[in-house]
Amino acid sequence: MITTLSVKTSSHGEFVDITSEVTAIVKKSGEEDGLAVIYVPHTTAGITINEHADPSVASDMLKTLDQIVPWNNNYQHSEGNSAAHIKASMMGSAVRVIIESGKPVLGTWQGIFFCEFDGPRSRKVIVKVLTNTK
Ligand code: ZN
Repeated sequence: MITTLSVKTSSHGEFVDITSEVTAIVKKSGEEDGLAVIYVPHTTAGITINEHADPSVASDMLKTLDQIVPWNNNYQHSEGNSAAHIKASMMGSAVRVIIESGKPVLGTWQGIFFCEFDGPRSRKVIVKVLTNTK
């Protein structure tokens, strides 16, 4: 089963918490004991799991990524958004979450974030729920 989530970002750089949407997809799948792959089919956006209790963690991550990967750095890519491509690869294009008792297994402070690096845009996140075949 594949479900596609639509994510509309509103800033150039933004972390969007999609934990509740992913949890709803897992519940709807009826899978009790498996794995969910959450995949971002974009080259200037990524995905990560990190703290979502304190929103300043996400803003600190965005700020630090901007410092590590400046927007202007004599890049060769003609589209002018190499920084976004680099940050997307740093975060990665997929995360995996174990499903137990019909729910994603996440730590108390963990949330799943869609990471926008060249917004605002309309984006997609693909969720594949895998069955435990034992
Ligand atoms: Zn580009």
